[in-house]
Amino acid sequence: MAGLLNISEPNANNHNHNHTDTTLNNKNASHDFLATLATDATNTKQQAASKHSREQIAQLFDLPLMDLLLQAQTIHRQHFTANEVQISTLLSIKTGNCPEDCGYCSQSGHHRDTTKLQAEKRIEVDKVIAAAKRAKATGSSRFCMGAAWKHPSAKDMPYVVELVKEVKALGLETCMTLGMLDTDQAAQLADAGLDYYNHNLDTSRSYYEQVVSTRSYDERLDTIANVRNSGINVCSGNIVGMGESRDDRIDWVHELLKMPKAPESIPVNLLVPIQGTPIGDKVLAEGQLPVLEWIRTIAVTRICCPSSYVRLSAGRESLSDSEQALAFMAGANSFFYGDKLLTTGNASQSGDDRLMRELGLTKQFAAPRAPKQVPVLDAMSGHQSQVVLAE
Ligand code: SF4
Repeated sequence: MAGLLNISEPNANNHNHNHTDTTLNNKNASHDFLATLATDATNTKQQAASKHSREQIAQLFDLPLMDLLLQAQTIHRQHFTANEVQISTLLSIKTGNCPEDCGYCSQSGHHRDTTKLQAEKRIEVDKVIAAAKRAKATGSSRFCMGAAWKHPSAKDMPYVVELVKEVKALGLETCMTLGMLDTDQAAQLADAGLDYYNHNLDTSRSYYEQVVSTRSYDERLDTIANVRNSGINVCSGNIVGMGESRDDRIDWVHELLKMPKAPESIPVNLLVPIQGTPIGDKVLAEGQLPVLEWIRTIAVTRICCPSSYVRLSAGRESLSDSEQALAFMAGANSFFYGDKLLTTGNASQSGDDRLMRELGLTKQFAAPRAPKQVPVLDAMSGHQSQVVLAE
């Protein structure tokens, strides 16, 4: 087995490389995969891209765990440098009193009487820059800024544009999560040079109504499309363990594959149940999802979206070293540094540094997106590419 893992040499970010899993049609597929892996590994690099059907995604979830992990790690090494992780730092630039009613979130104004979260105004630009400098000094390559808004207002736009420019000037990649964006707002952020915009789907379309009522699933997809069309990289993930079924997790992966292009960054969050939130209280009363099901979700995401960064976000704080190691084995290659994720706790930075040393993981350097990069659609082939405009 160890020999099999060695056959795929690191080959960072080669998006032309495909993977071997698209012929998985029944449960025997795992045995076929293991039997043919050694000879197929070199051939996979020439295979054409193909999307998984919902049935194929379900079959991946059903694989014996070790077969699933082996397949995910093998595919991971065909698309990224082995043992390298991208590290981000997340800062809340406006906390609490959000008009949305996301059932898991302490920042929702709908749950403030029970969560008792103290709302805060926008943080001043200087303080954000100071936090970004600290993030860079400690090894983060990306600085993510989150605001508890339904969407940025007209008066918020100059503020967030300035933040993108200032943080980018430090040589960091930038990411924002500010709620819904219209096409004009996405264009303003793209012009400022924003690298990533986060807007999670959270769960399947059918389970979504159990989670949020103030923003529709289609509105989420519209924002993601606006981000994609502006040329900003898309970051969009989920939260597992909110009471959804495995079918919902399968549907969420399938939803990613229905997009014109899979998100470049996919956070796979494990719910941190917060007392006072409807979903947190329900999960605390009924019991949490087994961690291995979260690991499976990471592995299936890695296999189905081989070129995307699969990110560990919320939920890491409560995990053991071994569970986190399994998540990296499953193909996760990105995580958040720092003691806090918006309002929930995170694994400590010193603990992360120690774990990285023990696992032999190294940090990836930042590669900020060039400003004024726009998507160009080839009318003949339908192929979309990014073009950097001259100043
Ligand atoms: S998850 Fe985001 S949009 Fe939903 S309530 Fe929390 S801050 Fe608002």
